[in-house]
Amino acid sequence: MIEEFTEKFYRDPYARELVSKVLSCEPAGNGFAVVLDDTIFYPEGGGQPADHGTLRPDDGNGELRVTDVRRRKDGTIVHFCDAPVSAGTRVTGRIDWDRRFDLMQNHSGEHILSGLVHAALGYENVGFHMGEMITIDFSGPMDWETLMSLERQANGMVYRNLPIAQSYPDEAELRELSYRSKKELSGKVRIVTVPETDACACCGLHVARTGEIGLIKCFSLMNYKGGVRIEMASGRRALSELTRRVDQSIELSRMLAAEPGHIAEAVQRLRGESADKDRRLAEVMTWYFAAASEALPADRPLQILFEEGLSPVETRRFCDYLLERGLGAVALVLSRQEGGWYYCLGSRRVDVRAHAKALNANLSGRGGGSAEMIQGTWAAEPERIREVLGKEFSDVRL
Ligand SMILES: [Zn+2]
Repeated sequence: MIEEFTEKFYRDPYARELVSKVLSCEPAGNGFAVVLDDTIFYPEGGGQPADHGTLRPDDGNGELRVTDVRRRKDGTIVHFCDAPVSAGTRVTGRIDWDRRFDLMQNHSGEHILSGLVHAALGYENVGFHMGEMITIDFSGPMDWETLMSLERQANGMVYRNLPIAQSYPDEAELRELSYRSKKELSGKVRIVTVPETDACACCGLHVARTGEIGLIKCFSLMNYKGGVRIEMASGRRALSELTRRVDQSIELSRMLAAEPGHIAEAVQRLRGESADKDRRLAEVMTWYFAAASEALPADRPLQILFEEGLSPVETRRFCDYLLERGLGAVALVLSRQEGGWYYCLGSRRVDVRAHAKALNANLSGRGGGSAEMIQGTWAAEPERIREVLGKEFSDVRL
C-alpha cells in the first residue's frame, strides 16, 4: 500500500490506464475485493463517487469489471470486482474515463460555485451529493436572482481558464490559510485552490484548468433546513440536461404554436381560455339542471334522477341544485359509469351519512361524506336503487 494522496490518481488525475500488481484478492459479497500496489481508481469519498472500469490480468485470463472502489479505515484501497485474480498477477487497470471526467468537471464546478457563495454570503456548503444532478445544501437563504448572478460569476471563472491547484500545507501554514472545510481536520490535509475564487479541503479529483469545466449551470433552488438546496450540473452533463430541456421547449412551442421564448405567455393564455370555458360550461350545466329538473314532481319527498355522462363534480352540483331549490327533502342524482352508478345523495334535513352503511351494503357499493351529502358508487340496477332508497327514506316527509 502506498501513502494516502500519493496514489496514481492523485499524481496524475488524467491517467486512464495503469499497470499494477495484485497484492491480495478475497471474496467479498457477490464478488471479490482486490488490492493493488498502486491505482488510478478513485475510491468513493468527499462527495465524489467511485470510478468504474476494468482490470485486465497479463496472464490473458479475461477481464475483471470494477464496479465499486472504497478506501478502508487503514487507508487501503479496495477494488470490488466480478471475478477473482491471483495475488502477484500484473493487471492493466483502465477507468471509465467519460464517467471520471464528468465527475471531475462537476466536482470542480461545485467548488467554484460553493467558493463564490461563501465569499458573497458567508454560507457553508453543508451537504454535497453527486447523483444524477449535483445537489448542494447551503447554510442560509438565497433567492434565484442572487444564485443566477453567482452562476454568471462562476462561468466567468471558467472563461478565464484558471489553473486548479492541489497543495499539502503543514500545520503552521494551515493555521494561516483561509479555506473551506466541513470538519475539524487532522493529519495530512489536501487543499484544492481555484485562484480568486476558492480554497477548500478536499480529497476529490479536479480538472487541471477551469476552462475544462466548460459550463456551470444551476437548475433549481429550494428552501431546505433553514438554508437552500440547489441542483446544478457542469460540463457535458450540464450540456446534455440543457439539450433535453431545449428539445422539450421546442416540442412545447410547436404544440402551443408559440416562439420558444414565449411559452409561458402561451400557457397563461391557454389557462385563461380554459377558465373561461369552465365558467361557460358551469352556466350551461345550470341551464341543463333547470331543464332536467322541470319534469320532477314537486310533491315528492325523495327525488331520484338517473343521468348519463355527468362527471362526479357535475353530479354533486346537480344534487346541490335540487336541494337549493327545495326539490325534495332528500335528493339523489346518479350518473352511469362502468359497472354501475356514481351517486350523490344529499339533504338539508336528514342526516344522510347515517344511511350510508346500509345503502352501500344493499347496493353493492362504497362511499361516504358528511351529514348533508354522501358520494360514491353503487353497482345495482335502477329499479333496485329506487326500491332500496324508497324503504330507507320511507318516513321522510316534505
Ligand atoms: Zn471537493
